[in-house]
Amino acid sequence: MVPKIVSVAAIDSLLPQTQCQRCGYADCHAYAEAMHVGDAEINRCPPGGDATRMALAALLSHEPIGLSDDVDAYAPEHVALIDEAACIGCAACLPVCPTDTIVGASKRMHTVIASDCTGCELCIIACPVDCISLEPIATPANRVYATLVEREPQANGLRQQYQAHKARFAERAEAKAEAHAPKVLPDKKTLLADILARAKART
Ligand code: SF4
Ligand code: SF4
Ligand code: SF4
Repeated sequence: MVPKIVSVAAIDSLLPQTQCQRCGYADCHAYAEAMHVGDAEINRCPPGGDATRMALAALLSHEPIGLSDDVDAYAPEHVALIDEAACIGCAACLPVCPTDTIVGASKRMHTVIASDCTGCELCIIACPVDCISLEPIATPANRVYATLVEREPQANGLRQQYQAHKARFAERAEAKAEAHAPKVLPDKKTLLADILARAKART
């Protein structure tokens, strides 16, 4: 358990907000929560690089340690590229993209807006026909910086995009649940009372 004075937000602020899940958690905030309660080590974030590990060590009074060897590597300065001829338009890549950088309608070809792509690879995992690859292109969203100060604008932008993404998909899920909710029909007694009231109003 880390000292109470260190908040989850303070830990989260040291993470790069790539939301790539390489740490083994659903997103950066979930990893921050796990570190906060002492369930996770400070060395599970490849996109954070040395800067994040050193900063976490300092914040949580921990010895600096190297990247854990059970997390997948992150390729900075790469973006996802969809082979548009092979894309079947299934839209499976849309909900997993933390920056909402894939565009396309259901059953239509999809494409990536490269400037917002972090190269997190979540779309590659989600695609059922393996038509997404990584290409070496540097964007404002996919750098690994040597210091947190240099990285701050990128991390802030990615956090905002991810929050907007979550809000958008939560709204959609709510609307879908509402549309599929069983209609509550009035019971017989209420129905009869309603018919009688309407008949009385007519006379
Ligand atoms: S960027 Fe780091 S902390 Fe965030 S989800 Fe990826 S590995 Fe986890
Ligand atoms: S398009 Fe880029 S940011 Fe979106 S899921 Fe794919 S790799 Fe990640
Ligand atoms: S998951 Fe693959 S096939 Fe489906 S829309 Fe995305 S790129 Fe196309």
